[in-house]
Amino acid sequence: ILGEVGQGFDVAQSSSILYGRPNLAAVSLGLHEAALTLTTQYVSSRPRHGKTVADLAVIRNRLGQMNARLLMAQILAYHAADMLDHGLPCDAELCAAKGLGHELAAETGRDAMELHGANALTEGRPLERVWRDMQTTYAPAGTGEVQRIRLAQALLHEHGHPDHHTPHTQWSARHAHHPRADPATTP
Ligand SMILES: Cc1cc2nc3c(=O)[nH]c(=O)nc-3n(C[C@H](O)[C@H](O)[C@H](O)COP(=O)(O)OP(=O)(O)OC[C@H]3O[C@@H](n4cnc5c(N)ncnc54)[C@H](O)[C@@H]3O)c2cc1C
Repeated sequence: ILGEVGQGFDVAQSSSILYGRPNLAAVSLGLHEAALTLTTQYVSSRPRHGKTVADLAVIRNRLGQMNARLLMAQILAYHAADMLDHGLPCDAELCAAKGLGHELAAETGRDAMELHGANALTEGRPLERVWRDMQTTYAPAGTGEVQRIRLAQALLHEHGHPDHHTPHTQWSARHAHHPRADPATTP
């Protein structure tokens, strides 16, 4: 038996909200970083008329945009995880970190594929796997639709929408007391 008898829904919710969302935000972030690193290395080594593809202004513009996007995803994920660590209500932050974390990574993934040209499709190149893995972070711990519905509900509740006027305690706050792995004792 996980948790208390009769509290199964709470156990399921806490596993998805407290662990699933930050977990998937972190997975998206790792893939996002990998896509950017691989692309920077690729365009820096791909020859173009005595220089490299990275020397083209249009490519730098895109790399700069990808870098800004990665920073945005990092801030989202670390901010949500920090709030969770401090036992603060952060359901909306976790939803945004999970949902938008995937979207931002997928956008960079598409840029990375395009900047690799035909080589993006070469079997065995690491980017091929990174791109494929990125598609797996949409559904788990709530699809994008579900994250956006929860974010909209939080907003409507905050502004007194009649369908969302009942007092609501955030799951992250309700489960703030749940034991977590202590980094000092976890191998
Ligand atoms: C890599 C991976 C790991 C997973 N790990 C786990 C796990 O550890 N534990 C676990 O329990 N599950 C896990 N899942 C399952 C995951 O929770 C489901 O895939 C997810 O909940 C979506 O359900 P579904 O795939 O049946 O999609 P469907 O329910 O068939 O949805 C299809 C589409 O319709 C949309 N949709 C469906 N219902 C609604 C609605 N009511 N409102 C708005 N849009 C809606 C969905 O957002 C989606 O875009 C995992 C999935 C993946 C891909």
